[in-house]
Amino acid sequence: MCYDKGTFIDGSPYPFFDASKRFKLQPEHFYKPKYFVFIPHLLAGAAIRCPQCLAESRKGKDGQPAYLTPNGFPKAPRRVVDVDENIYIIGYRYYCRTCKKSYQSWSPALRAALPRPLAQQFTHHLTFRSGLTDRVVAIMRSCFLQGIGPYPFAQILRTNHIRRYEQLHLQYLEFLYAGHSTPLHFTGSYQPFSAYNDQSGYAGYTPSGRYIRDFYVQFMGSHAKEIDQYTAMLSANILQVDHSFKVSNNSQIDGFNFEYWLPGTQAFGKGQRHSCLHCSSYSGERVQ
Ligand SMILES: [Zn+2]
Repeated sequence: MCYDKGTFIDGSPYPFFDASKRFKLQPEHFYKPKYFVFIPHLLAGAAIRCPQCLAESRKGKDGQPAYLTPNGFPKAPRRVVDVDENIYIIGYRYYCRTCKKSYQSWSPALRAALPRPLAQQFTHHLTFRSGLTDRVVAIMRSCFLQGIGPYPFAQILRTNHIRRYEQLHLQYLEFLYAGHSTPLHFTGSYQPFSAYNDQSGYAGYTPSGRYIRDFYVQFMGSHAKEIDQYTAMLSANILQVDHSFKVSNNSQIDGFNFEYWLPGTQAFGKGQRHSCLHCSSYSGERVQ
């Protein structure tokens, strides 16, 4: 178990060690993926509370808090895309006897119920059917800041994945070449290395530019409140104010009615500040 070695990762990124021990080498010795093992009940130190029952302050039959029961492995691991390879997440299923709900260990609801230091170890960004590692998301955001858009970024990702595939292919061929003096009637003929996207072989995959774009829009949308808050906290050394009191037709923000907008722009045009006025008195402000 990889937890005994102090890591969440199972599987070596170096097929050299496995291949060195084999008399008859097969290409699949070079296809072995990396696994991220996330079985939190082994690490939480205590039973995991049911998120649903906790939210509704519901107790178990014996009056004790409702805890989750480990309920076996999911049908299949989840694939997330890393910088030059794909990682497969091995999770665990949990069941609540009180509210009869099931959770996967990678679900956001279950992770919110874990001790925070443990929940923080799961950094992958999962989407409906796939996902990206935090490393890829960090590089993606840096690329977007530097003007590289989602479609070129998808190509960069694909280039790196194919580069790793070709390195493994070359390693396989070097092993065969090193052992070519052994007569073939001892080893039998060797299998060719699979194509990159052969699903029964290497099974390479990278997401499309459209997927990257949609991911980014959703990701930034989920952090809009924090970004707005940070922008609102920036000081405005120079504030250009448009004092025409634009009528906003009683727009509502957080349940309050506002009758006028007082737009203002910071120096260098960074962020626009809108003061909302109600009956000629200052009520609040919002940054766009
Ligand atoms: Zn429950």
